[in-house]
Amino acid sequence: VLSLRGTTKRFGDHTALDAVDLDVAEGEVVVVIGPSGSGKSTLVRCVHQLESVDGGGMYLDGELLGYSEHRGALRPLTPRGTAAQRRRVGMVFQQFNLFPHFSALRNVSEAPRRVHGRTAGEAEREATALLDRVGLGDRLHHYPRQLSGGQQQRVAIARALATRPRILLFDEPTSALDPELVEEVLGVLRGLARDGLTMVVVTHEMAFAREVADRVVFMEAGRIVETGPPAQIFGSPRSERLHSFLSRHT
Ligand code: ATP
Ligand code: MG
Repeated sequence: VLSLRGTTKRFGDHTALDAVDLDVAEGEVVVVIGPSGSGKSTLVRCVHQLESVDGGGMYLDGELLGYSEHRGALRPLTPRGTAAQRRRVGMVFQQFNLFPHFSALRNVSEAPRRVHGRTAGEAEREATALLDRVGLGDRLHHYPRQLSGGQQQRVAIARALATRPRILLFDEPTSALDPELVEEVLGVLRGLARDGLTMVVVTHEMAFAREVADRVVFMEAGRIVETGPPAQIFGSPRSERLHSFLSRHT
């Protein structure tokens, strides 16, 4: 579904992503771990085209992100083309980023209605089903401020699903939550993983990584230092750096 080849991102003279190669297969759950500043957020932000990249290529279903092919030549996408590509990637942020003046239902139904040309009725039916799926079937008409953090994040997940993305990206989806609300959001992620969605999850929740990841990616200083199934990453880390990271975080 997703391939990164030599993806490089610089902020001034700081290299946030240093020639990252990563493949995410259909239905795979990849969990990204690593110390603060290692480039985890930059990685998912680049895939969602919230950041421009300085080198390498990113491919979604074989299509180069940011470009369109025309008679064998690549051209940078127009803003409209970029928007269409971005809708095939769903993203959930640490700070839910809901529209405060929209109900839960409208937060989820807005994009399908406005952008995908669904009728209001269709969009609302689909949004209701998605909110049901994240356990909020009884909160359709609540506004964000009337919802707990965990409920707001579940609305954000339903909203990310509403455009039927090929891949879902999560950047520390539980880091802003009170501890007692973390589990309800992780439970939703577990359900999505079981349903076969393709996901990249940046998280500090090591127990979740161990349990749900098909593959764990450990980043440091803009590079992927080690990657493997959770049993290998947590059970027999190869690099000294991963070893010391895990001793500090588990
Ligand atoms: P954390 O665990 O704290 O969220 P992270 O692994 O997500 O860290 P990133 O946010 O990707 O780290 O940042 C990677 C590096 O890039 C850091 O050194 C950071 O200071 C730098 N960086 C990120 N965004 C910007 C920006 N907009 N301008 C300048 N530097 C940035
Ligand atoms: Mg981050």
